Amino acid sequence: MKIRTYGNFNLAVIGGGMAGFAASLEASRRGAHVILIEHNAFPGGVATASLCPNIMGYSFNGRQIVSGIADELVRELDKIGCAAIKHKEANEFPIGNAAITSSVVTTKSALQYVMNNMLDKAKVHTLYYTSLVNARENDNKIKYICCNCREGVIRINASYFIDASGDAILLHRAGAETREYACEKSMAKTLLLHLGGVRNFCRTTVKESYVRACEKNGPPVPGQDNFMGFSIPFHENEVHLNFTMTAGEALTSSACTIMDKELRRQAFHGAEWFKKYIPGFEKSYIVDIADSIGVRCARGIVGRETITLKDITAENPVKEPLVFSNCYYGDHYVKNFHAPWRNNKSMIRPVPFGALVPVRLENVIAAGRCISSEPEVVTSFRLMATCMATGQAAGMAACFAPAKAVQNIRYSELEPELKRTGVLLL
Ligand SMILES: Cc1cc2nc3c(=O)[nH]c(=O)nc-3n(C[C@H](O)[C@H](O)[C@H](O)COP(=O)(O)OP(=O)(O)OC[C@H]3O[C@@H](n4cnc5c(N)ncnc54)[C@H](O)[C@@H]3O)c2cc1C
Repeated sequence: MKIRTYGNFNLAVIGGGMAGFAASLEASRRGAHVILIEHNAFPGGVATASLCPNIMGYSFNGRQIVSGIADELVRELDKIGCAAIKHKEANEFPIGNAAITSSVVTTKSALQYVMNNMLDKAKVHTLYYTSLVNARENDNKIKYICCNCREGVIRINASYFIDASGDAILLHRAGAETREYACEKSMAKTLLLHLGGVRNFCRTTVKESYVRACEKNGPPVPGQDNFMGFSIPFHENEVHLNFTMTAGEALTSSACTIMDKELRRQAFHGAEWFKKYIPGFEKSYIVDIADSIGVRCARGIVGRETITLKDITAENPVKEPLVFSNCYYGDHYVKNFHAPWRNNKSMIRPVPFGALVPVRLENVIAAGRCISSEPEVVTSFRLMATCMATGQAAGMAACFAPAKAVQNIRYSELEPELKRTGVLLL
């Protein structure tokens, strides 16, 4: 098979989710020639493809803890009237110059539009409809990657690479060390159902009605009583419902296909169930169902440092802090919604730089939900604002190190820039 060389870049970013978006933007603004490769037709990853345009991780106890590109994105969404600060029962907008002190809700389409505009303005070479297939490693460096795109298989050469694929696909394809999360420690996979025409939605009342209706009629899906989540989307009279797979890993296409088909059936059935049993849902209708199941975690890199349950529980100090993150974890687990190791103590904790740095490969950095961690504590860094911050830090680090191994980047070089750009706020 003839493989055409598509181009030569300073940096190739794999994955256009929240982390890859911020990484590409940061590096391109610093003058690097950046290509962003994304399997979907649009940016956003889980936020758009899995219908979760509800950006969390900005704040702790009413104080903003992440700024930088994550903050810029919200201001751009706000300019087109598509961002609201989310409170328990209602959304509040416009945001204006106010600090972001809660999560931010927007729409899937607004996110795709605004992220594209920001990437174009920064002159990132975006290549959608393209999947990374393989990575050629030699002497602890990735030399080039091969991708499947609409016109065939292409080769992309780059000096540096960022793995923002969510599931450490780049390191896995390069034959580097990765960590696969076993089903019982991995988090549940969820398909989001978006309903419109909901009358007087009040989260607390609907939750109570849901519990009563489950007791009386059985749950919409057997075994899922505890997994149902309700969140308020951007527009009024609408609601997002979670349909969750309580078994299965998401490491193979066949497993994802089975889960996707099953959850889509459940969502259609569930929509009818809500109409029948929950007051206010009588005239509800399906606005949208996520394009793909939401995978919270499946595989991560093995990094120079690993985020562990023991370190977090003991509150061991973090030597090289990148970004502060809301440190709750232990929800959405497969067996029970709340895992035995769940932390419900309110705390924040920095993500260590070493968790982005692979143990061996010298010209690759990871960002987003696939950084090095034990599966139990993935939620301590996987919220979207935090993923954008680790992405921005990875983009920065790639520019600091064009000629040296990522393992040799000194944190002292990075720290002032992390603070100046608002990645490390506190
Ligand atoms: C159901 C669900 C609900 C959630 N709800 C919230 C919430 O309310 N608030 C919140 O803040 N967080 C939420 N999260 C968590 C959050 O959405 C994710 O952790 C975060 O968006 C991950 O961003 P990422 O960029 O690291 O990865 P991803 O969003 O997974 O992005 C990775 C990208 O890489 C691309 N990719 C993968 N493989 C390849 C390949 N081979 N070639 C090319 N491209 C590839 C994918 O298409 C994807 O676009 C939720 C997660 C799930 C699953």
